[in-house]
Parts: sequence; structure tokens; C-alpha cells
Amino acid sequence: MKHPTDPESPKLIVIVEDDPDVARIIEQVLSDFAFRTVWCRSAADLLRRLRTLAPDLCIIDLGLPDMDGLEVMQRVRAQSACGIVILTGRAHVSDRVMGLELGADDYILKPFEPRELVARVRSILRRREKDKKATSQPHEIAEFGDWRFNLGNNTLLASSGEEHLLSTSEAELLKVLVSNPNRILQREQLMGSRDLAPTDRSIDVRISRLRRKLEANPQGPAFIKTVYGAGYLFLATVNWPTEG
Ligand code: CA
Repeated sequence: MKHPTDPESPKLIVIVEDDPDVARIIEQVLSDFAFRTVWCRSAADLLRRLRTLAPDLCIIDLGLPDMDGLEVMQRVRAQSACGIVILTGRAHVSDRVMGLELGADDYILKPFEPRELVARVRSILRRREKDKKATSQPHEIAEFGDWRFNLGNNTLLASSGEEHLLSTSEAELLKVLVSNPNRILQREQLMGSRDLAPTDRSIDVRISRLRRKLEANPQGPAFIKTVYGAGYLFLATVNWPTEG
């Protein structure tokens, strides 16, 4: 068996969906694109499987019979650093926003185009692959204020010992900010590939999530300033110490 981090080995996608027809469609299209899949029909099933499986990504239906989908997501987040795509039949914006806020990498509304789902999955995995490669490159640590941001493993560490694990999308956003300090960044420049439009709320959601983690006072942020009508400004001196 190949090592799971072997780039040659097919990625493992776990599908958490109680509707067998939907699960079958997803399994089919993913295996057409050479992914390995495991289907879990309930949250309990997933949480049990996660003890032995190390998926690269989980596709989680928010409407599961045995547990609220958002809670499932949080449990997965606590247990695994895998990518997360939310699948929802409820066309409620609040669920999507909540999902992103809780650390999902992307969301897909049902009914969906199977190939669109594959495209999103691939884009998340590519991004994560790139993040992993960044680990072996210099400049993997950014220091600002009291914080040490490890771009290789998406952790934020304060000298007090306070530590946060950022979601892929939060870390991606923070990377743009620390790489471009003290200049106004328009929403377009902060957008990741998953964002639909500059009006999409996901940037604001991620900004407020980051603020809650790294600002002493999230209501009066010292680092991530809102520049009304323009975008955001990362106000800090950023150092890039060589590790070791
Ligand atoms: Ca369902």
C-alpha cells in the first residue's frame, strides 16, 4: 500500500450523505476522476470511520438524520485536518455562512452539477497540496505583533502560549495579509478561488473569524483594519525569521 502522502496515491474522499441516490452520484463522478471514496450514511458512521481513516477531504451533507451537519463539521475539524466541503439542500445563506465560519473550505448547493463538485474538490486539494509544499520552503514563519504564524501548518502561536489552528481558507487569507502589510487590499485581492463574487460574504466571515483569533479586541482590531469602501488593511510589521 502506498503511503497516504505519496502524491501518486489516489486521494481519499469521504462522502457523508444519508440519501443513497445522491451518494451514488458523487461516488460515481469521483471515481471517474480517479478518487477513492468511502460512503458514510450517518454522522455516527463517519465519526466511527474517522478513527481509522485519514481522508484528504470530507463532503458533508448538512441535512443528516442523526446529527446537525454543522456539529458534524466541528467534530471532524477537531479530529482531522482534512478539507471539508458542505453539501446542502437548504438554500439558506445562513447555513452556508455558518459553515464557512466553522471552517469549511467550500459549500455546494443541491441540486448540483457533478462535474462542478469535482472541480471544487480538485481545487481544494490542489490548494492544500501547495500549502503542504510551502512547508519545505523558506519563509514559512511570519511574525507580527505577539504572533508567530506558521504558513506550513496553518497555526498561529502567541508568546503567551495561546495557539489557534486556522482552516485552509483562513490561513490562505492570512497569508495574503502578512505578505502585503500596510497597504489597502481590495476584496478582489483577498478572494480565494472559491469565492463567487466580490459581494460574496465569505471574505467578511473569514476576516471576522481571523479577528476573533488574533485580535485582543476584535471590535477594535489593531491588525486587520476595515477601510470603508476600499477593503482591508493589515497594519503590522511582519518579520520572516529563518527557522532553526
Ligand atoms: Ca440529507
